Amino acid sequence: MEQYLPQQVLELVEDISGQAAKQKQRVYLVGGVVRDLLLRDPSLRSGLRFDLDLVVEGDAVKLAQQVAETSQAKLLAHRRFGTAKLRYENFTLDLATARKETYAKPGALPTVTPGTLQDDLLRRDFSINAMAISLASKGYGKLVDPHEGQTDLEHRLIRILHPRSFSDDATRILRAVRYEQRLGFRLEAQTAQLLKRDIHMLDTISGDRIRHELELIFKEKRPEFVIKRLAELGALSRISPFLKGDGWIAEKFDRARRLKKPTQLPSLYFCLLIYSFSVTEIEQLLARLNIPAKLSRAMHDTLRLKTKLPFLDTSPLKPSEIYYLLREYEPLAIQVNAIASEPSMAQRYLQLFLTKLRYVRTSLDGEELKRLGISAGPEMGKVLQLLHKAKLDGEVRTKADEKKLALSLSPKL
Ligand code: ATP
Ligand code: MG
Repeated sequence: MEQYLPQQVLELVEDISGQAAKQKQRVYLVGGVVRDLLLRDPSLRSGLRFDLDLVVEGDAVKLAQQVAETSQAKLLAHRRFGTAKLRYENFTLDLATARKETYAKPGALPTVTPGTLQDDLLRRDFSINAMAISLASKGYGKLVDPHEGQTDLEHRLIRILHPRSFSDDATRILRAVRYEQRLGFRLEAQTAQLLKRDIHMLDTISGDRIRHELELIFKEKRPEFVIKRLAELGALSRISPFLKGDGWIAEKFDRARRLKKPTQLPSLYFCLLIYSFSVTEIEQLLARLNIPAKLSRAMHDTLRLKTKLPFLDTSPLKPSEIYYLLREYEPLAIQVNAIASEPSMAQRYLQLFLTKLRYVRTSLDGEELKRLGISAGPEMGKVLQLLHKAKLDGEVRTKADEKKLALSLSPKL
């Protein structure tokens, strides 16, 4: 911990440990950070990815309140769930009261009751995520590993904790593959068998939860590996029979990453996944994943524009014509088509729109046109549009050019 946690985080963890001791509560570091510490993951040091999970045997909300009083943290408590979030400038801490979970039926959210650390580790997804580090003053830094997570880390295996794990919560199927591909691990033999047996349990998971897991996949460095593997295991077609994880997807995901900022990538990946879909196939996926309106518009636009590409490819167009043709589409749909299409005239038009045309503005505005004697209303609208077209096509450059053109247009109108 001393080697891999940023100083600020380490001090805070020590502070929490002290406060917990005063309240006679036991607190542990759990989940991803424990796994990554044992893997000596260098990205821990950068402090970029900080969300720490702590489990409290006792009352997490009470402990969080205490810590918030003596530090610069914003506290967000959920009494009902026994959880609290402490938000610092560069990272967040999640504190949860140790709990036991039971599943009334597959795919449902679990019923939660307070429990011990052992209960809390048993409800987790994989052995490598089911370890804890004690922060109690007696035994500070001691590893708690009841499910042989450390051995699985050494053997590079993803292993579930009991045979009903995937049917209790089939999002774990998607999580298993995500960790497998991120870490370069393998599914342990029985886990792989159970995963295949329980693939159909994905049907019990709500659209929102599946979508959330896909979003997590899209935050990975190489989501195409995860998608390909999900296809291989039959999980992708269980979500929608039309989804593919082939070489085309891999190539386009890679291209998207080289062109776009990380925040824009998830929506781009979604639209690339449906690039070969028909309208009905899109409709089916939108319904299954409960896709929000904006993304759903972008998906439909992606397809609508795709069918226009042959026309764009065979028609020499002026910049103003390109602009007025493309402006009715969601910019995301234009980006997706620029990435998904092959080098062509159509692709150059799309890129021209995205990098230049959509930012072109006239120098004159309505106020200035009024001063030139052009009255507000349809006439002015027309003049502004003609000026904009002339500017797009390079027929006017300076403000003086625009004035001249406006004055020559106005009497004709
Ligand atoms: P990451 O590096 O992806 O953030 P993480 O292990 O921190 O990895 P989170 O999604 O932040 O993953 O979840 C925190 C912990 O909660 C996990 O380590 C795991 O123990 C547990 N967990 C999360 N989702 C599930 C689930 N569906 N079933 C069981 N346990 C889960
Ligand atoms: Mg995490």
